[in-house]
Amino acid sequence: MGTLTVIAGPSGVGKGTLVQRLLERHPRIWVSVSATTRAPREGEREGESYFFHSRDRFDSLVQEGGLLEWAEFAGNCYGTPRAPVEQRLQEGRPVLLEIELEGARQVRGSFPQAQQIFLAPPSFEELERRIRDRGTDAEDAIQRRLMRAREELSAEGEFDAVVVNNDLEQTLLKLEGLMGLT
Ligand code: 5GP
Repeated sequence: MGTLTVIAGPSGVGKGTLVQRLLERHPRIWVSVSATTRAPREGEREGESYFFHSRDRFDSLVQEGGLLEWAEFAGNCYGTPRAPVEQRLQEGRPVLLEIELEGARQVRGSFPQAQQIFLAPPSFEELERRIRDRGTDAEDAIQRRLMRAREELSAEGEFDAVVVNNDLEQTLLKLEGLMGLT
């Protein structure tokens, strides 16, 4: 069986960039592609960034038990397709899920052996700056993301490890250590 690692942490903390860099350095890692009802951002591609679904299609996936976990986040639904994760774990691959807090909690119930890592920003102000500088979200979406970020930050104690994403290289080294990839 492969190992399952969950990386959670507030929107804007840099999860996406870190996961990309981990993949470049360790091609054996398999990163799950989530289903979402959110509209694609510029440059996002179907089946690579996400599987973009209508709300109806997403609801059917939930009904069929096709998602390992799912949650609503800032007005949209996000979930992890179950079958590909189980398949990669059976193949012995290290599997990585990059998800938000509610989903991480669900995985804790169904895969208690998974390693749960929380990625924290250096400060809340820095997080807000990063979300705004990304320039991809409208003001109301930014406000929802910031409100949710406060909730997520207060839950970091639930995780097996907390890594502050201050310096990309340092954070990568810490993640590699936690995942036994060094
Ligand atoms: P974004 O819209 O910025 O791509 O993602 C918003 C949030 O949803 C991020 O915190 C991201 O980690 C989370 N997310 C992405 N995919 C999933 C998923 O499959 N399940 C859950 N629970 N959260 C997800």
